Parts: sequence; C-alpha cells; structure tokens
Amino acid sequence: MSTPTFENRYRTAWAGLARKEHAGGEMRVAGWVHRRRDHGGLIFIDLRDREGILQLVFHPERAAAAHEAAHRLRAEDVISAAGTLVEREEGAVNPELPTGEIELRVSSFELLADAETPPFQIDEDEPVGEELRLQYSYLDLRKPRMAEAIVLRHQVISAIRSHLEGQGFLEIETPILTRSTPEGARDYLVPSRLQPGSWYALPQSPQLFKQLLMMSGFERYYQIARCFRDEDLRADRQPEFTQLDMELSFVDEDDVIATCDRLMRDVLAVGGVEVTGEIERLTYDEAMLRYGSDRPDRRIPIEIADVGEVFAASEFKVFAGALEGGGVVRGLSASGEFPRSRFDALTERAQSLGAKGLVWGVVEPGGGWRSPVAKFLSQEEMAGMIAATGAEEGDAILVVADEAATAARVLGELRLEVGEPAEGHDLVWVVDFPMFEWNEQSGRWDALHHPFTAPSGDLDADPGTWHSRAYDLVMDGTEIGGGSIRINTPEVQTKVFGALGMSPAEATERFGFLLDALSYGAPPHGGIAFGLDRIVALLAGRESIREVIAFPKTASGADPLTGAPAPVDARQLRELGLRPQAPPG
Ligand code: ASP
Repeated sequence: MSTPTFENRYRTAWAGLARKEHAGGEMRVAGWVHRRRDHGGLIFIDLRDREGILQLVFHPERAAAAHEAAHRLRAEDVISAAGTLVEREEGAVNPELPTGEIELRVSSFELLADAETPPFQIDEDEPVGEELRLQYSYLDLRKPRMAEAIVLRHQVISAIRSHLEGQGFLEIETPILTRSTPEGARDYLVPSRLQPGSWYALPQSPQLFKQLLMMSGFERYYQIARCFRDEDLRADRQPEFTQLDMELSFVDEDDVIATCDRLMRDVLAVGGVEVTGEIERLTYDEAMLRYGSDRPDRRIPIEIADVGEVFAASEFKVFAGALEGGGVVRGLSASGEFPRSRFDALTERAQSLGAKGLVWGVVEPGGGWRSPVAKFLSQEEMAGMIAATGAEEGDAILVVADEAATAARVLGELRLEVGEPAEGHDLVWVVDFPMFEWNEQSGRWDALHHPFTAPSGDLDADPGTWHSRAYDLVMDGTEIGGGSIRINTPEVQTKVFGALGMSPAEATERFGFLLDALSYGAPPHGGIAFGLDRIVALLAGRESIREVIAFPKTASGADPLTGAPAPVDARQLRELGLRPQAPPG
C-alpha cells in the first residue's frame, strides 16, 4: 500500500519510501533527525518520517552552507531537506534498511523546529522505566517499534471494518454516559451536575445497547467500542480498553461461530497468522479435564489424564481417600530436568493453589518410579499411570488427588510451568460453559459470562446444573473473544435474575428497561466481543497490551503524561453537589 505524499513546500516524497529506482531524481523530504554521524568531513543524518528512515549526506564542498549548518543539528530536530537521491557506493549499502541502497545528497535544508535532548534515546530500544516512558509517551511513540504496533493496530481495525461491511454489518455507536452494564467489574461513575446526587456509569461493555439494537431490528451490529472496568491491580489490564463488539439477530451458536471463523481468517492474516477451515471446538468440561483451564494453551504438548481407574483399588491413602470422598486423581507427565528442588518448588506451587499436596515421581528403566511414595504403589498402578500419560523413561510424573475443580486448576497451572509451547499459533473455541459459579464470599451464584446469556438445561433444576449458550475464542492460551446467545424473553431473564439472588424489585429497578424491551418482540439474538488490544498484542508479538495502545495507563491506572487522575477544584465539586473530603488513609 503506498501512502500519498501530499506534495508541498516541506516535502515532495516520503523519506522512508525512497528506493533505488528513484535514484537520480531531485526530492525534498521532511522529518526528525534520528541519528547524526560525522565521518571524515562528511555528515550523515538518518532522517525519520512515518514511513521509515533515509540517510542524508552533507558534503563540505558540494553544499558548504548546508554542511556547516548540519553541524548544529541534534537528535529529534525537525528539518526539511532537498537534494538528489543517489545510489550508495558498494561498500556503504545497508541491507538491513529498505532505503539501504540509496541516500539523499543534500543541497539545502531548513530547520523547522529545535528539539531538547530527549529523556531517553529514540534511536535505541534500551529498556526505559515505565513512569518515564509514559510521561513522555509522545516520544515513546516515535520509536519505530511502538510506531509499528500502532500502525498494525490500524490495519487490524481496517480489516475488521472491511470484512464486516462486506457481511452486511452496521457500525453503530452506543452511549458512554449510561447506567451500569455488569461484566463483573466495578463501574467508573460520573456525577451528574443537573441532577445532583445522581450518577452515570461508564459502560463496562455495550452489552445492553447492542441487545436493544437487535430488538430495534438492525440485525447485524458492530462497534470498535471503548469499555471501562474499574478492577483491582491486575497484570496487563487497562482501566479502559477496546473491544470489537458484535451482535446478530436470528442466529444460534453455530452461526455466530461461523461468522467469527471467517472474520478471524481476515483479521489474523494481517499479522501473518493463517487460519484454515473451521476453528476447532472444545466443551468447557473437556477443556477443564484435559488442560485444567478454560483458556487452554494447546501449543504445550501435555495433557492431563484422569487416572481414578488406575488407582481405584489403591492402598495409598492419599489416592484412596480422595476417591472415596467423591474426588478425583489426575496427573500429567513432562520431560526435562527435574532435580529434587524443582519438585519441591512445584509442590509449594500446588499447595499455594489449594491442593493438599503433590505426588511426584520420575520414570525409571523398567517402568517403576523413583518417588517418595513409590513404596505405597503397586507395579500395576505405576505402569498404569505411565501408560495413561504417555510418560517415557526419565520423565517426571505429577499427580493431584483432590476435588475435581481443585485438581483441574492445580494441574492446569503446573502444566503451564513444566511445558514449553511449540512454535506457531493455536486457536480453539471453548463452548458449553456452566451458567453460574458459586461465590463463597457472597454465598450466591455469579454468572460465569453475564446475566443476559441464555441458559440451557432444566431451568427448574438447581441453577448449579444449568449450562449456558456461551462461547469463548482462545488463542495461544489467551481468551481473545467471548460471547453468547442471549435471553430473548422477559420470563427467562427474570428467572436468571432470580437465580442470581436479585429480588423482583431490584431487577425492575436496575433492568426494568431491558425486561420491558424483551416484552415487545425480541428476536433470538447473540453476539460476541473480541479484545482488540489483546489481538493486536498477540499479532505484534508484544507481551503487554500497553505496547499496542497509544497513551496507555500504568498498572495502577495513572497517566503520568497528563497527571490523570487528578484532584479538582472545590468549586467544581460544589457544582456537582459533592463535598471535598480528605483522601482516606
Ligand atoms: N459483553 C461481553 C463482554 O464484554 C461480550 C458479549 O457477550 O458479547 O465480554
């Protein structure tokens, strides 16, 4: 894709797009001094514009005035320079650079703006402290590595728009000042000046509005939507983040999933990830059993085995006790170096995750185990475990005997610790989730997705047995999208609110508008939201979503650039009907 130049007095061509075939031509380029080198009378400047870097040469005799003035140029000065594009001498060709075969022989240049010495170098990728980086994020964004990520982000969004447009989706905006849309986080609240004492909430997602749009008859909606969730400090979360939000009418799970398979093919292709055919599906139960996680990273070639059968008649009290108590015995095997200290560390980790303990062993020649518990196990049991996990001589075996959920969680984590992901990418849909999870603290059910997800199963039975018509898309062990078929009758919606412990009065107070809307003819509908920041981070190969967001916040939600969040005037507070108060603590 070539970028139009918009020729004017500052530039007639992009510096970064100059190529060998343009050699011999006169051109004017504009940008930032990326780096300056003085070399035996010649001055070299790497000039950086949005499209890349071009070497400028200042010759002491051919352009004496420009050469003289170039002595005073410093990193990040802004200049416009005119000259002839020439081929570099053979030894001076730089194969690393797209412009490495040519250089601009400068005849004259103009200094457009002076730059102070930046607080960190732009031309190097040295680690810089986060505070400083974000305080000067406009300089951080000048770094080619950051700029590339932001351009990739644009390309991803552009691919989304063009794909969905082709599929008949309408892009519709929804309000930012609204009422709470529960997605399991705290709300950001905005006080109302005109109705003192009342508050808007910023949307945790456009969930209710997109459902209402289906009830309005728009059929296929999408939005590149900003969402706001006030969560406690968690690694790689941002208080505001971007979703690709979608909703469709007259669909079931298969339709939404097929639509997303096609979309993902185009979107991931932007980052060079090839998706062929249908993306595989796993049920939640299967994912938990085999990978101990509903976000399985299947690039790790280790699966958890349920070995209750193997140890059904075991004399080893730990296994027998767990099985008798209705629990499970599950395990996995892994190759690698396993000194005693590593087993100790894994045992500690298992305990910190809630396991009572960890049984471990190393497969010896002949099929026995070297293990502190070997003396309690029969030959058949040890051999059965080896067969169930596919372990080979020298491999480590890890076994957890506990309640099913604990065993899954613990082995799921240990699997990530002892396994190495293979090259490439893995995509998988996880489907058929439980509708609720028990919240020990509140003594109530919480919705695993959100309360608008359609339940399945016997709705007259215990809510703990209900399933939901939800689906998540997982890439390389990260959830990149999640959605569901929604409830489309007021009766079922009321029933779900009830199961969540909401009284009819509370349900009407908070969601009366939804219950009303559902009573005026709501089509069957469903949708999904994809984490745009995460998708771009995965495609750009960046560890953190902060690396793909222009002006992100720190892990504690601060913006060191603008100083947000910041105190406000007492007068402003009074206008809002609020009283200033000293911060707690
Ligand atoms: N509103 C959901 C979320 O933000 C996505 C969906 O159900 O479409 O995670």
